[in-house]
Amino acid sequence: MLDLTVQIAGIATESVVDGPGLRSTVFFQGCSHACPDCHNPETWDPSAGQLITCRDLLGKLQLNPLTTGVTFSGGEPFLQAAAAAELGKFLKQQGLSLWVYTGYVWEYLLANSGNPGFGALLEVTDVLVDGPFQKKYRDLQLAFRGSSNQRLIKVSESIKTGAIVEWQPTAVIINL
Ligand code: SF4
Repeated sequence: MLDLTVQIAGIATESVVDGPGLRSTVFFQGCSHACPDCHNPETWDPSAGQLITCRDLLGKLQLNPLTTGVTFSGGEPFLQAAAAAELGKFLKQQGLSLWVYTGYVWEYLLANSGNPGFGALLEVTDVLVDGPFQKKYRDLQLAFRGSSNQRLIKVSESIKTGAIVEWQPTAVIINL
């Protein structure tokens, strides 16, 4: 299934801003949300960017022993959910964590988990950052999200408990 193709806007390696630890980030190309405060409108056109197989994309992520995880951002990863799920499945098998940023809210994704690939992508996602960036809720103090309407949702715990369980940063205490 790694022969599936994905349309991407780009890749960032050694990122520390798209989730905890050292991560590689895939920016999916194509987004239909048209959020007024979008920072990446160049990712909206689904035919722009680069078409690449999942296999070739994995080769470009420069995963190494220091990499703790991979993040899917956008654009909208759920518009290419089937291929994203295959990529995610492979990454999880390598012991990596998967964070996914989406313009959809959690409740919409759950209600539409029958859409092709939606359920499969949720299944391999550790943390879902849901909802679009909204300038009126902008808060620079927030970890890994731009506005307070976005939630860092631990997917399997939330599905298991039937209530949203939010990811919390772990405090690191350094004794000097
Ligand atoms: S979901 Fe994200 S990429 Fe898409 S329009 Fe909204 S802010 Fe931009």
